[in-house]
Amino acid sequence: MSAVTSHASYCIHLNPDLSDLDQIYIENQILALIGDEARKMDSKTDPFDNLDVLVTAAIQNGKIEDAPASKQILEAQLMNFATPLPSTINSIFWDKHLINSREATDWFYNLSKANNYIQTRAISKNLKFTTKSEYGDLEITINLSKPEKDPRAIAAAFNTPQNDQYPLCQLCMENEGYLGRIDYPARSNHRIVRFNLGGQTWGFQYSPYSYFSEHAIFLDQIHEPMEITRQTFVNLLTIISTFKDYFVGSNADIPLVGGSMLSHEHYQGGRHNFPMFKAPIEHDLKLKSFPNLKAGIVKWPMSVIRISSNNKKDLIDAAEMIREKWQEYSDESVGIRAYVNGERKHTVTPIAHRNGDEYTLEIVLRDNQTSEKYPDGIFHPHQDVQHIKKENIGLIEVMGLAILPGRLQTELSEVKKFLLNQDNEIKESHRPWAEELKSKQVWNKDNIEAQLNQAVGDVFSRVLEDAGVFKRDDKGKVAFMNFCKKIC
Ligand SMILES: [Zn+2]
Repeated sequence: MSAVTSHASYCIHLNPDLSDLDQIYIENQILALIGDEARKMDSKTDPFDNLDVLVTAAIQNGKIEDAPASKQILEAQLMNFATPLPSTINSIFWDKHLINSREATDWFYNLSKANNYIQTRAISKNLKFTTKSEYGDLEITINLSKPEKDPRAIAAAFNTPQNDQYPLCQLCMENEGYLGRIDYPARSNHRIVRFNLGGQTWGFQYSPYSYFSEHAIFLDQIHEPMEITRQTFVNLLTIISTFKDYFVGSNADIPLVGGSMLSHEHYQGGRHNFPMFKAPIEHDLKLKSFPNLKAGIVKWPMSVIRISSNNKKDLIDAAEMIREKWQEYSDESVGIRAYVNGERKHTVTPIAHRNGDEYTLEIVLRDNQTSEKYPDGIFHPHQDVQHIKKENIGLIEVMGLAILPGRLQTELSEVKKFLLNQDNEIKESHRPWAEELKSKQVWNKDNIEAQLNQAVGDVFSRVLEDAGVFKRDDKGKVAFMNFCKKIC
């Protein structure tokens, strides 16, 4: 059997819009992309290996350039044949959802992997480990899955005028089926499930480079800026009522303390029990306007108020009350300021999850002030831990899963050599940390992997403490209680 037939059969098998009658037609569509010369190639059993064979053939036949963007575009085009039309996806998804939510998400998740939209092969390269902390286990991922950046892509992005951009951003609905360009991801095989959220159309899709199980994105049909309001809490609770066993959270709506996509309203969710969800309440709170609500301060390096109830309206009202109070709250004694030169500095990172009928909102207090001493952010990883993490502490990190840059893979292997007294090219940025580690512990080849992983986890714990607005020393705890008096 030739490679083309094998891929055509795979597409027909996966795509309910197609049947055996479409075999010849699909084969010819594939040949149009990879060249007729390819039809007698040997096929591979694994569909993704086979995809590589097709892409290589297209390069050999002069159909595409041997460049990352061209290959990704062709891969997505080929996998588009395996992907039902958006209308079919939506009707199957919601039919299954009538039976149960899990059946629908399982189906769409498996499809998004099988059609290579979720880049499972790239994701499997990520390094993952768990470390201990006083807050419970923390999860660490060194991100090796993002594709290499083509220097021409950077140049092309620089030369594209902002107004001419199409799609406007990577979270816009217009990405569905979009071919892609040298400076823009290939989305031919991308599909979005539509649903109604607070009277607006929203989309639901999976993240192509997922950081945890069933990493999903919920996006507004309208390209409009992120904004945390009462409606955000309504939306988050509605989402976990619809997607019954998912959590969902929103990044902050101001710079430095959230994600990188402030220009398009969206949330992230999925099926994962994050370290923060497992952290206990260390101080109970009684909110007097909400006597039936469970509330408390979470034992966590960042400043988190957890509220739980089976009454969604109470939860929404209480969350909005906390958000409003925090937005206006200043405490000079600990350097917390709601406004600087008239600019708002406060917001929250809200996260919703549920356990049966009990709904929980985790409300993480954020402050994005900068200072001369901390130009990157006062409540942001400080200089001495930026050799491990200098990026914003967004939703996923907040919950105790570190997404660390891929550069660390090679850098940490040099740190290992340094710790084992071998020849090394340790980066100067890691040296003070590595010297301290060397002086504190005995290092040998049997313990280095575990000890260094733990040391990275310890830095991540510090990173989260830096991002916490109320520090965990006595002064910070008193200050946190003073704020809580405003909401109790
Ligand atoms: Zn957009």
